[in-house]
Amino acid sequence: MRVHHLNCGCMCPLGGRLMDGVSRGLTAQLVCHCLLVEADEGLVLIDTGFGRQDVEHPYRRLNPFFIHFNRIQFDHRRTAFEQVKAHGFSPRDVRHIVLTHLDFDHAGGLEDFPHARVHVLQDEMAAARARHGFRERGRYRPPQWDDVRNWRLYEGGGERWFGFDAVRDLDGLPPEILMIPLPGHTEGHAGVAIDTPEGWLLNAGDAYFHRHEMDSQPRVTPGLAAYQRMMEVDRPMRLRNRRRVHALANDRRNGVRVFCSHDAVELEALQRLSRGEKPM
Ligand SMILES: [Zn+2]
Repeated sequence: MRVHHLNCGCMCPLGGRLMDGVSRGLTAQLVCHCLLVEADEGLVLIDTGFGRQDVEHPYRRLNPFFIHFNRIQFDHRRTAFEQVKAHGFSPRDVRHIVLTHLDFDHAGGLEDFPHARVHVLQDEMAAARARHGFRERGRYRPPQWDDVRNWRLYEGGGERWFGFDAVRDLDGLPPEILMIPLPGHTEGHAGVAIDTPEGWLLNAGDAYFHRHEMDSQPRVTPGLAAYQRMMEVDRPMRLRNRRRVHALANDRRNGVRVFCSHDAVELEALQRLSRGEKPM
């Protein structure tokens, strides 16, 4: 099973270093870290970033507040559709998409892969369909997913994985790919764990936003602390799950490599690793 680390969307909100901790100018760089997994069952995408229709018709698909606040950079070359082709595959070969959640910056590419089954937690689908309140109507965008016919919905819980609840039997997927419910950012937010030949990976999605949140002494930039508070649905639950992910990332015995969706430095490190290059 081979895993490719893709960036399927850039956002450049104002804030520079106060947001991402590294950018020198006025704006920061947030990525949309998605995975393309080569499995025997076909290609599997974990999250989709922004899709082709988002690039072509952003104002039909997305909320204007988030387009401007996050300063979303629309670029066809970044779409999962184009990157699957750039890796030498056909988009028809994408058989499964596993979603951490249904926010606009994760679900935008779903309709570019009509042959894929889409796996998501039941609670997330319910929240996205209900769209209670102004913020939820901005984050969940039905035009991005109302043509999807092939949903697979799961209750959270079940078996254990390093002390977390896990959904193991994803329909049609190999047992090496599991969903790990991590609610708080959204109602049905989940991480996705993958058992690779190099060890376990945990895509923690938006359970945290900045790599230093996983340091032994965790810290976060003021900009990303504020953004996470703005987007959370359940603060105690979000902070509890972040603590649990932090404990997992800092327990060297288990060897799980943890990363989140929007940190550019984490993405680059994993891309270098998967190309066999030395860490910076
Ligand atoms: Zn996100």
